[in-house]
Amino acid sequence: NGSNTAQLDASKIIYKFTTNLRAVPDEATANTSDETICTDHMITAVWRASTGWEAPELKPYGPLSIMPTASVLNYATECFEGMKAYRGDDGKLRLFRPNLNCERLNVSASRISLPTFDAAEMEKLIVTLLSVDGPRWLPKDRAGGFLYIRPILIGTQARIGVHAPKEALFYIMAGFIPRLDSYPGGMRLHTSPDDLVRAWVGGYGYAKIGANYGPSMIAKQGPHMQGFHEILWLYGDKGECTEAGASNFFVVWKRKDGKTELITAPLDDKLILSGVTRRSCLEFVRQKLIGDIEVTERKFTIGELFEAQAEGRILESFATGTGFFICPISQIRHRGQDIMIPIDPELQAGEITHKIKTVLGDILYGRANHSWGVVI
Ligand code: PMP
Repeated sequence: NGSNTAQLDASKIIYKFTTNLRAVPDEATANTSDETICTDHMITAVWRASTGWEAPELKPYGPLSIMPTASVLNYATECFEGMKAYRGDDGKLRLFRPNLNCERLNVSASRISLPTFDAAEMEKLIVTLLSVDGPRWLPKDRAGGFLYIRPILIGTQARIGVHAPKEALFYIMAGFIPRLDSYPGGMRLHTSPDDLVRAWVGGYGYAKIGANYGPSMIAKQGPHMQGFHEILWLYGDKGECTEAGASNFFVVWKRKDGKTELITAPLDDKLILSGVTRRSCLEFVRQKLIGDIEVTERKFTIGELFEAQAEGRILESFATGTGFFICPISQIRHRGQDIMIPIDPELQAGEITHKIKTVLGDILYGRANHSWGVVI
């Protein structure tokens, strides 16, 4: 992003309102979701290497026009974000730590030869879209509801040669996705097939780019997935536990020295995405607000989990992400053997998982006042 080219500037936005407001689905439809439904508007911003960012536009949601030779269609020059706007119990609309998503999109863009921008301007554009479409698509009386927000950046330059694109399009859309925050009885994971890896050292697992997702989908196909919800992605000869589906993976266990520990994979090797929910869980539990729980980010293997299970040391496990929020895990199957993790039938989670879920959920829905919840 050259210093003498125009920067992304939310204050320059041009409004082109729709003249054709569409029907908002009822609450039941929104929660079970027709994932094809987006709100009335989207925001777009064009970037050119020679001149920088053009004025963003808010315009009717609708098809894009790009050439078949566009970089993204040929070479997957694409990155995206996923976040939600939550309608609080107090009727207010909130984002959860949106600055982290905006900064992460810049990290992803850098990895895939797309332009970067001022994250604060992106946040302002998200707020603009929600200020326009939020009141109608997620009305005040839908407390506990949410809209899914998908910011996305694509290389649009029409050129067959393999080059970093000199033109890009940033756009933001909002719509509905299903409410997935609990699987009755817990989420069941199957480890990844021996011949498939999601990410590797030197790769781009830490970036939220489409190329991480398409190739991972086949791991969910096949008879072994019968009765299982998501893949536990293992890495390397020793089977390091990395991520669960498209969410971060946590275990609460007793260490051999008797201490209770919350453990998750580290960010150092750039294998996993730095989830906003992951980071929030870690920061929260580190404050010792829910008791004396040690928090550890380190490599740990499926073998260690089996050993801990044999010694009765596994207490809880959960996955975190914007889609699932905090989802208790009840079973992990690896090469035909199971790790079974208890779930309190009343809480529908382990005790610690439940506490973390409650505290963070209270911030999302405005039941607790916290700087992580950003009111629109
Ligand atoms: N890992 C991957 C691969 C993901 O796609 C996501 C969802 N963005 C997460 C983890 C969880 O991240 P977050 O808590 O920011 O939604």
